[in-house]
Amino acid sequence: TPVNVFDLVVFGGTGDLARRKILPAMFKRFCAGEMPDGSRLIGVARRAMPAEAYRDMVRAALDEFLKTPIDPEAVEHFLQRIEYVQLDAQGEDGWQSLAEMMLPDRMRAFYFSVGPSLFSDLAARLRLWGLADENSRIVVEKPFGHDLETAKALNAELATHFKECQIYRIDHYLGKETVQNLMAVRFGNMLFEPLWNSQYIDHIQITVAETVGVGGRGAYYQKAGAMRDMMQNHMMQLLCLIAMEPPAKFDPEAVRDEKLKVIRALDPVEPHHIIRGQYTSGEDVASFREDVADARSKTESFIALKCHLSNWRWAGTPFYLRTGKRLKTRSSQITVVFKDAPHSIFGPASGRHNNELTIQLQPDEGIILDVTIKEPGAGGMKLIDVPLDMSFAEALGPKADAADAYERLIMDVIRGNQTLFMRNDEVEAAWAWTDPVIKGWELRGDVPKPYDSFANGPDDSSQLLRRDKREWRGIK
Ligand code: NAD
Repeated sequence: TPVNVFDLVVFGGTGDLARRKILPAMFKRFCAGEMPDGSRLIGVARRAMPAEAYRDMVRAALDEFLKTPIDPEAVEHFLQRIEYVQLDAQGEDGWQSLAEMMLPDRMRAFYFSVGPSLFSDLAARLRLWGLADENSRIVVEKPFGHDLETAKALNAELATHFKECQIYRIDHYLGKETVQNLMAVRFGNMLFEPLWNSQYIDHIQITVAETVGVGGRGAYYQKAGAMRDMMQNHMMQLLCLIAMEPPAKFDPEAVRDEKLKVIRALDPVEPHHIIRGQYTSGEDVASFREDVADARSKTESFIALKCHLSNWRWAGTPFYLRTGKRLKTRSSQITVVFKDAPHSIFGPASGRHNNELTIQLQPDEGIILDVTIKEPGAGGMKLIDVPLDMSFAEALGPKADAADAYERLIMDVIRGNQTLFMRNDEVEAAWAWTDPVIKGWELRGDVPKPYDSFANGPDDSSQLLRRDKREWRGIK
């Protein structure tokens, strides 16, 4: 779809997320010809500085965060599209200047790349100052609420100023190429969908492992923990895409209706099906409790859990989800483990050979299907598993170097496509499932188990699967 002329206003335009992701993403889209003449990117932040100083900051951010070599001439052209406005989200300073900068002939998107405490201030002032019209859009970063109550309040607040079709709640996991490919694989092939249920699938597991600790985000993280920071949003979204029914159409409402049904079908999690952990200090790294500056912190930097969906398709199929910081490698994957063949004609000596479909999200994106074949050359019928590797880098060559998640999602906002953004009811349903879990361990005074930095999380997490005679895939 062609892109019409637009203004992207980035609140928090000097912040970490803007410099790391949003500005580089927009530069790449500019180079791809998706910023038609006249379109602008207006950085907005608290700091007073001339537009020229902001452009220097943008140039420095592109140098620092773009991985591919950049054309200096293209950068200069891009910088001509950049403006800057100093403004206070919570006061009245600067709003007049921003209002004066608005032009009537274009779509305006307002990206809230600021802390969540400013989301409602921004929405209210956009309305108050008449900056937003019927066609304007707002983009809201995570975290979206701290629990069900705060998420509902935020949704209600945003709804007084904007219609739901104008609100884009971003979850960058949904912008990943492979995550969308998951839908293409499931719903574009005859091969998988007939087997995509509890009759043929033994279990599904999702791992999102990071090597980093909480870094400079200690104060935020101490209040959040892995359940709020990763499980309620990113992991839940991945679970939705893997478990949802085929939507009638690939359109925003149809897709999000089906995702919502998945979240609503989730059973409450049994307390003994949850393992929480905190990383301990290692060579050159501090412990979680040091990082959050609380020697008695009960917040988790790791969580593993087993959950069930009470619906026709998935009754009896466990879903194992785990995510954590300071683990062995940075790797995210979804593994669909199919059941064994009902009978082995090769006898017990041939071993277990079930199919597995692995959807790799990090570090490289790709999809791998394990199939069983005869070991070449060996005497007799010896079976081995080989990967049918659908790694995009190899198969697609230069095409695989697709847009990154932020590029795709921001352009979806510009084009007005909400398919990959979370709807209000989805976010609330995810919190409704998350809240009792967190309340449960607060009531019990649950203390996370310590685990070694750069290993595979608490031993209990391995036990969670072992007692079901299963194993984690990926890091173990
Ligand atoms: P940051 O602290 O680096 O930047 C905050 C920005 O907000 C700055 O530009 C600052 O000038 C501006 N700001 C603060 N108070 C203001 C006010 N009163 N009026 C006007 N501007 C004000 O934060 P960040 O890391 O860029 O994060 C921004 C948002 O994105 C947060 O909601 C965060 O949770 C989310 N997020 C960040 C990352 C990341 O990698 N940094 C990843 C995912 C989500």
